[in-house]
Amino acid sequence: MELRQLTDRVFYSLHNKEVDRPVLGYINGRKYSLMVDSGNSKRHVQLFNEAIINEGLRKPDFIAITHWHWDHSFGMNAIEGITFANKKTNEKLAEIAKWKWTDSEMKKRLETKLEIEFADSSIRKEYPVLSEILVTTSDISYNGTMEIDLGGIVAELHPIVSPHSEDCTCIFVPQERVLFIGDAVGVDYYNNCYLDKSKLNSLLIAIEGIDFDICVMGHADPASKLDILNIIGSLLDR
Ligand SMILES: [Zn+2]
Repeated sequence: MELRQLTDRVFYSLHNKEVDRPVLGYINGRKYSLMVDSGNSKRHVQLFNEAIINEGLRKPDFIAITHWHWDHSFGMNAIEGITFANKKTNEKLAEIAKWKWTDSEMKKRLETKLEIEFADSSIRKEYPVLSEILVTTSDISYNGTMEIDLGGIVAELHPIVSPHSEDCTCIFVPQERVLFIGDAVGVDYYNNCYLDKSKLNSLLIAIEGIDFDICVMGHADPASKLDILNIIGSLLDR
């Protein structure tokens, strides 16, 4: 897995479309390091850890989850550090933790529209052995905003309104002027790919108000602030 350095203390791994692996972030503090999103499986976590160690960095002490979707959260059980997710994310994960991962149960969830085709087919690709899936909630659950002092660098976890999911969190690293927004700029796959423009507009206003240079997204290359505002603007005009 390729790891790229974005700024002095911020790194990210590339996304992989084939098995729907999102970008994972890494913020290197003097005392602690923070990973952004836990990846979609144990394999994803292992590849990320190898890339981190190759770079001469230590494994993440903390992991912050941007939203509940499987590709961002199913790696949580395989991670050694302490995981953080907001209450809404954990409520959804607690629900999914009760799901059974057999072919017939997965088919049932598709029929009842609890699950979507895209996630179902990607999960099957990532997990040839379905019984390996283990969904957990995070170690630490928080409401609202949280700041983590990593030693010389602070990561701020903020809830953000998004048309993609109800529970989106962005991770802002003011000292490096980097904003991790997960999939916040995106449609709601669990609601027929609906794009709620009033939520998108709230997201636009929120992003405009944050003082950053580079935005890291879940399934795309990093973009400048101007680029991300233009992307949102063109989605609003659609
Ligand atoms: Zn998502």
